[in-house]
Amino acid sequence: MNRRMASGLIALLVSACAPASPEQQVIDDAIEAMGGAGRIRDVKALSIQGAGTAPNAGQNRTPDDELPVWKVNEYTRRIDLVNGRTRVQQVREAQFLFAGDLVQRQTQGLDGDAAYNVAANGTITRAGAAAARDRRSELLHHPVTFLRTIVDADLTLSNLRARAGERLVDIAMPAGGTMTLGIDSATHLPTRVVSMAANANMGDVAIETRFSDYEEIDGLQLPRRLTTKMDYYLQLDLQVTKNAVDGDMSELAIPAELKQAKVPEPPPVVVTVEPVATGIWWLAGSGNHRSVVFEFDDHLVLFEAPVNEARTKAVIDKARTLSPKPLTKAIVSHHHFDHSGGLRAAIAEGLTIVTHRSNEAFFRSLVGRQHTIAPDTLEKVRRLVMFELVDDQLTLKDKSMEVQLYHLLDNPREGTNIYAYVPRDRILVQADLYDATWLRHSWGANVLQNLERRGLQIERSVPVHGVIEPFAQMVKTIKSKPS
Ligand SMILES: [Zn+2]
Repeated sequence: MNRRMASGLIALLVSACAPASPEQQVIDDAIEAMGGAGRIRDVKALSIQGAGTAPNAGQNRTPDDELPVWKVNEYTRRIDLVNGRTRVQQVREAQFLFAGDLVQRQTQGLDGDAAYNVAANGTITRAGAAAARDRRSELLHHPVTFLRTIVDADLTLSNLRARAGERLVDIAMPAGGTMTLGIDSATHLPTRVVSMAANANMGDVAIETRFSDYEEIDGLQLPRRLTTKMDYYLQLDLQVTKNAVDGDMSELAIPAELKQAKVPEPPPVVVTVEPVATGIWWLAGSGNHRSVVFEFDDHLVLFEAPVNEARTKAVIDKARTLSPKPLTKAIVSHHHFDHSGGLRAAIAEGLTIVTHRSNEAFFRSLVGRQHTIAPDTLEKVRRLVMFELVDDQLTLKDKSMEVQLYHLLDNPREGTNIYAYVPRDRILVQADLYDATWLRHSWGANVLQNLERRGLQIERSVPVHGVIEPFAQMVKTIKSKPS
């Protein structure tokens, strides 16, 4: 043995004998259990077929009810590990009352940093930066892609801890951010990976995918069940019917002309003002979530703080240009995420929240959550939240304005919804009771019963979604479309 060989052998023995840190041991154990470092490095592609359920967070009937669920069929996920590409195709079927297409075919892809969507008619469009970020993160929520990313990386590992039957370790990822890997204490197979994300309503959320029911395919252990949660909400429960390793992935590349295409920016927030009656304005503009401003003797009241902080802040700023009187209250029609996305922004602006009593605990929990990943104004200013709660009905009234608020009763979809009626102008202000563009009005009959039992003499509907319409047209549309 020559000298160089000998010293090389000694170096090898030293590195092989140096005890790995307890954190590194978790990763090494996982790699070994999955099929070994060599096997993981050699994987070129994965394809996963299955079916499952995808609940719709922030759209339940009441904050405590079960989430409405999409049934997911014909799910195929392909991952090209060599080129960093992935594509998910699925057909999802609404298992709940829904005003849009009940069956939706979706294809979503990622090629490097470029996200794209394929429409049902085959048209491919570039998706925005937020979609790309989410899909890059989602790509790591599989034991093979996750371990492949870290197998040869020099990583900062920390926070080893034991849970029932599991060991967990935090990993500073090569591309930035920290993720958590859990492995089964007995089998050493990955039990879960966790990453952090920002949600407009929930703030900092853990995105956790759990893996179980492993099977061996081509020397690699692959899970047959993947369950993803956002914080405490289940997002996808996938039962794998077929795992496959390698295969042709050429279809996953984004078309060249689209790769060069400009990344679409979120559309600018535009707030338009349309006077509806004396002291009542409809604030529309970009998007399909409108708000309404009511002018009382010495203050203004906003109906709806929707979507997110950017939309709601722009609406509040616009409302403040309509009159020198202070804007003091925001009526939040219900707890669905698209309607309460501006709740924290309204509170940060000092507004009292008027909402149905059944939203209070949930809204308080949203107010108390941390928003450190994408800090919003409330995260920085920390204000006390003030509520004015509605039970069956509540009237806001002075010499200038009367707004009657009513709880929508016994509705199969909306359990916490309040709508407004202005008797002087016979105006209905409502969210999610009706939108002229809906394909069907599954809860329309209940809405009409509600308005009738309240004895309201409505002439116009001034909606959060859609357009201002004569009430007679709203009734006609509800009755003429399928339920
Ligand atoms: Zn809505």
